[in-house]
Amino acid sequence: MALLRMDDLLLEARRKGYAVGAFECWNSANIYAIAEGAASCGMPVIFQASPTEYGVMGGPDAMRDIVEFYVRKMDIRAALHLDHGTSIEHVKECIEAGFTSVMLDASRLPFEENVAISKQASQMAHQQDVSIEAELGHVAGCEAGLEELADAESQLTNPREAEIFVHETGIDCLAVAIGTVHGSYRSKPNINLQRLREISDIVHQPLVLHGGSGTPENILRKCISLGIAKINICTDIHNIWLEGIEEAKKSLTPSVPGLFYLPAHKMHVKMVIDKIELFKNQQ
Ligand code: 13P
Repeated sequence: MALLRMDDLLLEARRKGYAVGAFECWNSANIYAIAEGAASCGMPVIFQASPTEYGVMGGPDAMRDIVEFYVRKMDIRAALHLDHGTSIEHVKECIEAGFTSVMLDASRLPFEENVAISKQASQMAHQQDVSIEAELGHVAGCEAGLEELADAESQLTNPREAEIFVHETGIDCLAVAIGTVHGSYRSKPNINLQRLREISDIVHQPLVLHGGSGTPENILRKCISLGIAKINICTDIHNIWLEGIEEAKKSLTPSVPGLFYLPAHKMHVKMVIDKIELFKNQQ
């Protein structure tokens, strides 16, 4: 099957009440594991990478070729998405490479500047039949104490602004800040479901949840029932891959890489399956 536009997958998900798993990619083995997991569940999936990640794969065109290969081979419904592009150049290079969706993250900029650059990226994407996600409010990283700010009012998506933002920019999917963080939580997650409900009541485009790793399962299910149609997962699958390697170090010889990486591969596939199954069910 050919790669699909991400918004088509997400519109269907929001309508039917499930979320599509969007998994971070960093090499061909992890792309294979994601494809295998999605194929075994018979569910759509999103392969995504930020510029640093497709950078270590040899560029966006190299990533496109690898993803396209597995999507065709396993006959899965999938989109290829730029995660956290921070400039128009990132958006342009991914569109040229054949990505079917892009994200322009200008969430650190003041509202008016975020609107202006997101609108420019949105027009560029739509001219090439590519869908676009943008972020309003800011999903914190776990770096240097930022986590403490994740649920601060100033970081959260403002529902009224969200309505204006989507209308002015013409974006297809909105990433919301409701208290999740990128990376592992260092304190108890404080996810603002009431805020998500308010956003969901007025923004009818699919909503995106960043920082899916470590977010409690019951909260994720609740988020899906409130309009989240895409959940981003990076840290959990990277950690399980590293755990598999630690496992291998205990008893396997590095001189046979095919066997050495097998535990990591199996654990990665299982985690993709578990996440996709979780995202199918809402509360
Ligand atoms: P996690 O690393 O917390 O899963 O977040 C991933 C993410 O949101 C990528 O954009």
